[in-house]
Amino acid sequence: MKNGLIVSKIKNGTVIDHIPAGRALAVLNILGIKGNEGNRVALVMNVESSKMGKKDIVKIEERELNQREVELIALIAPSATINIIRNYEVAEKRKLNLPEKIEGILKCPNPACITNNDVEARSRFIVISKLPLVLKCDYCETTLTEDEVLRQILL
Ligand SMILES: [Zn+2]
Repeated sequence: MKNGLIVSKIKNGTVIDHIPAGRALAVLNILGIKGNEGNRVALVMNVESSKMGKKDIVKIEERELNQREVELIALIAPSATINIIRNYEVAEKRKLNLPEKIEGILKCPNPACITNNDVEARSRFIVISKLPLVLKCDYCETTLTEDEVLRQILL
């Protein structure tokens, strides 16, 4: 079955394709989409992909992702492709670029870390490795693995 039979084209919005299978929910979490925003969201999981074996796809109507959101998706779905759709056509392709620092999104696993004890302090992680993803807390040097990042994002 072709993917087009599962999810119809959208008029305006964003299509995130080639998400590693099983990570579509994590992508929605990163974007803060809970389903009660009113715009239509299509989520397809574990569909066949010639390149990847299996993949997930997310389509969001009436929303264009900003650069920050694109960077965060790069954290957990570096293979993803992001197309901005306007009037049924691909108007823009956004490139996934993992930032060197991730601020304010993830929590340091070290309970003694200043970012867990000072309400003024925002978490800040340095990207040590992209594949597999490894981050290091900029304050206490505790490392975060990809599994831990996913677990935090899926909470
Ligand atoms: Zn820390």
